[in-house]
Amino acid sequence: MPAFLLPIAGVVLGLIIGSFLATLVLRWPDSRSVVAGRSSCDHCGHQLRARELIPVASFVLQAGKCRQCGATIAKDHVAIELAAALIGGIALYAAPGAQGLAGAIFGWLLLALAALDVKHHWLPDRLTATLAVSGLMAYFLFIPPPLLDRLIGGLAGFLSLTIIARLYKSIRGRDGLGGGDPKMLGGIGCWLGWTALPLVVIGASLVGILVAISWQLRGKSVAADSRLPFGSLMAVAAFPLWLYQTAGGGLAY
Ligand SMILES: [Zn+2]
Repeated sequence: MPAFLLPIAGVVLGLIIGSFLATLVLRWPDSRSVVAGRSSCDHCGHQLRARELIPVASFVLQAGKCRQCGATIAKDHVAIELAAALIGGIALYAAPGAQGLAGAIFGWLLLALAALDVKHHWLPDRLTATLAVSGLMAYFLFIPPPLLDRLIGGLAGFLSLTIIARLYKSIRGRDGLGGGDPKMLGGIGCWLGWTALPLVVIGASLVGILVAISWQLRGKSVAADSRLPFGSLMAVAAFPLWLYQTAGGGLAY
């Protein structure tokens, strides 16, 4: 395949993966079948035909409504498909080849975690573990960072947020972080190496501040105890850092 076609292939693959991820995110918490896919309308149970299952296109053609009952199709579905397409396209543009595909997988895992965190404040162990294992495996594609940096990244990511969470709880007497957050930072460390961890946390905090400001501008109250989905903030910070590493900026490599 000519190199210029790879980002396009990334977009197409992203749409397909995104459709699966959206189903995962919207159904997993209710433990409805994910394998069966988005095969029926969530509202009336109408069995969807092939032409109603095309990522993004079906949504646009049907104006976001079920053909049978006219119920609005969750916009989350199409948003996740678009985000996954964007991740696939950008990753394979930044690195046309195996490294780009690995980066796309990193991005798609982050996307699934971010969406579950925003919607359900839930970072499933199975997904954070997949993030960690795939990050260590990416080393075997001979792409930086070195394996030792990834292993230290995994441990340091997990331990640092665990300690911060314990400290916070002992001072404030309540949880400031979700239980999955340290595991997720560990998983990110397995991909980016330990040197990237401070930037992930600082980036996530900056994004969090921007989100809080935009909430206030829109008149949404931000109580001192409203819990920002830190996992999704880390995801937003981590993918650009992968791009930066890959584009040759390098973080001490
Ligand atoms: Zn319906």
